[in-house]
Amino acid sequence: MDAEFAEVIDHDVTTITCVCGNTVSNEGLIQANSQGIPVHIGGNTAVPAGLATWPEDEDLYTLCPSCGRVYHDVVIEETGTAPVAFRVDITAGPIAEAIRVHWDLNT
Ligand SMILES: [Zn+2]
Repeated sequence: MDAEFAEVIDHDVTTITCVCGNTVSNEGLIQANSQGIPVHIGGNTAVPAGLATWPEDEDLYTLCPSCGRVYHDVVIEETGTAPVAFRVDITAGPIAEAIRVHWDLNT
């Protein structure tokens, strides 16, 4: 199977149009860790239950909360292309819960 690619403009992860059609201004995209778990963006404040801590190595991924495809930010920044790194289950389990927590905090 050929790899799937999102559309991206000028190596900028915030311009992704996911394979499913979702964008930052549509359903939004969420910064995640290498397991696809949304990370806590709030600096030094306590990490809310359900979210992952900000990765110390700054190695971030971008999760599409609409379909569960995950993109690796460093690949996008270095190559200007956005291959799907992996997919996660957004309908149940810890990632579904983390997405819910993320939107509670950010809407
Ligand atoms: Zn998507």
